[in-house]
Amino acid sequence: MPNKIVIIGAGPGGYAAALRAARLGGEVTVLEREDVGGTCLNWGCIPSKILRTTAELLEKLHRASDFGLKIEGTFGIDLDRLMQRRQEIIGAQAREMLKLLKNNKVRYLQGQGLVQEGHLAKVELRDGRSIEVEWDRLILAVGSRPMGLPQCPFDGERVISSNEALNLSRIPGSILIIGGGVIGCEFAFIMNAFGSRVTVVEALPRVLPLPSVEEECSQTIGREMKKRKIRFLVGRNVSLVEEKDGKLQVTVEPSPSAEERKKKRPVPEKIEVDQILVCIGRRPNTEGLGLERLGVGVDERGWIKADERLETSVEDVYALGDVLGPSRVMLAHVASTEALVAAENAMGANRVMKYDAVPGAIFTLPEVANVGLTESQAREHIQHVKADSVLFRNMGKAQVIGETAGLAKIVSDAESGKVLGVHLVGPHATDLIAEGALSINAGVSIQTLAETIHAHPTLAEIMGEAALKVLHGH
Ligand code: FAD
Repeated sequence: MPNKIVIIGAGPGGYAAALRAARLGGEVTVLEREDVGGTCLNWGCIPSKILRTTAELLEKLHRASDFGLKIEGTFGIDLDRLMQRRQEIIGAQAREMLKLLKNNKVRYLQGQGLVQEGHLAKVELRDGRSIEVEWDRLILAVGSRPMGLPQCPFDGERVISSNEALNLSRIPGSILIIGGGVIGCEFAFIMNAFGSRVTVVEALPRVLPLPSVEEECSQTIGREMKKRKIRFLVGRNVSLVEEKDGKLQVTVEPSPSAEERKKKRPVPEKIEVDQILVCIGRRPNTEGLGLERLGVGVDERGWIKADERLETSVEDVYALGDVLGPSRVMLAHVASTEALVAAENAMGANRVMKYDAVPGAIFTLPEVANVGLTESQAREHIQHVKADSVLFRNMGKAQVIGETAGLAKIVSDAESGKVLGVHLVGPHATDLIAEGALSINAGVSIQTLAETIHAHPTLAEIMGEAALKVLHGH
């Protein structure tokens, strides 16, 4: 049985793979050049949700009088305390992860990992020494990093990536966010709540232009942005950035997607801001890794290619997580699920990775979440589709908590009755989607969902109500 497992990268993917392989009896070594937890813990999911929690609280405090509260005196953001809270949470999580690795007898080496010829990996330790580690199976979990724009390269101060935006030392008076996808939209709400004047520029024609996001969800988020005076420019690209009198002058022009829609063609304009946050996507951490020494296949943008068992073009070499690129889903829970598949296969099993019930969670205000097919995707594949939605404003609990924007939509196969997709925009959508993920994963019917008793008064009732509406139309 293969026993020596080397994993490069200790993000949610590499970490979960290490634990699974160790629990299956592997002799596991993990190489990590920065900090345990990877992007997710240090520059992604966790810090962004810490900032977002404060942003949400701040928004709610501004509405305190609606809830019968009188706040006397002023309140506002304390950045130092917020950054300290961030560090405390990350520190606690990291310590727990390192403890678990140790308890499971995983060898954790901090340094740059390099793929060598043969069954060897080299690690350049932080103290300048380097060690070679032998493997029977190698797992590549090196993740990704922010992608920049040639017309405004990152300088860490005026033009920043999400990494710097999560480590704020000041709040800019105004900020331009390039890219209106998940990360761009999450930051738009955070920075707006913190007091910045926010403009978002998106090349495609809608807010959150992801194929997995229903049009209605995008529209709700667009309306919520408008309410908060976040300017969202669709069908636009940034063509030029110049520095003038201490400010950044940004020229914004119609993008090719706007050119196609001749009717409402936007005009070029100049926008003056203090800071630019570029959120246009990510790049793989494959440069300098030495993949060519083994001949591991990558695509034209450097993302590693792997089959459904997560084995790469080279036998005994597996890859998982963000480094597989956007053609799979770049989310932490996908990385950690792929990790179980890759680790088990590396230890001799034969599992395949399935992507049809992956929930998506977007932490805007309100949240967006989805799983399965959108209505239009379902109609492309299935002849008889039934879909309907219920508004949060009709739910008692949403009124009670004062969060009434949004809806739940369920897409189903009219013949088999199976749930095909669940789409939510509204309060706690990212928690509520769990029921949708279970429904799709277990092949639950719309009937079963409608018959499931949901406690009252809860937001989860919206799932039962939406299922009833799909079934009976009321
Ligand atoms: P990573 O987490 O990127 O880990 C890879 C690790 O490999 C890193 O620690 C890196 O230092 C290390 N490494 C790279 N090269 C080497 C080398 N040569 N030697 C040694 N070590 C190396 N996902 C969600 O599911 N929910 C969210 O809410 C969410 N929010 C996000 C918010 C932001 C701002 C960002 C940027 C991302 C967010 N994500 C979210 C995405 C999520 O963080 C990633 O999908 C996830 O971290 C991918 O895990 P991974 O293990 O594949 O890679």
